[in-house]
Amino acid sequence: MQVNVLQLQFEKKVSEASLRMTTTRRGIFDILSKAERPLEITEIVTRLPGVHFVSVYRSVDALRRAGLIKQLPYGFKNRFELSDAFLPHHHHATCDVCGTVYEINNGKIEQALRSVTNEVGFTSSRHHFEIYGTCRTCSKSAQ
Ligand SMILES: [Zn+2]
Ligand SMILES: [Zn+2]
Repeated sequence: MQVNVLQLQFEKKVSEASLRMTTTRRGIFDILSKAERPLEITEIVTRLPGVHFVSVYRSVDALRRAGLIKQLPYGFKNRFELSDAFLPHHHHATCDVCGTVYEINNGKIEQALRSVTNEVGFTSSRHHFEIYGTCRTCSKSAQ
């Protein structure tokens, strides 16, 4: 049910961006909406059997430029997830050792950012940051 609402939203955004709706673009959206974490492009390609990787790359890029997909740098690679238009606002903490991505959804951070920017008389409309470090599992195995 929730997926259907998201799909309708996606179709609306795609036409607002004057993009053509293609099977590949719809497939990418489906995969990202079901993904439990941001995906690398090769992971998207693997999950779209029968679609040429060049076509996947181009579609991801078109959706990214239209603001429907977010690109998250990770080392020399990028990972992709649906933009804030589809997912609730959140941040990521990514483990440098094993690559696990933890979703950070914390009102205290948002509150602190608001008050810090308000102090300088700035009204923030959006922000974006990523956190990198070592997860609990990798910290333990390094000891
Ligand atoms: Zn780790
Ligand atoms: Zn935030």
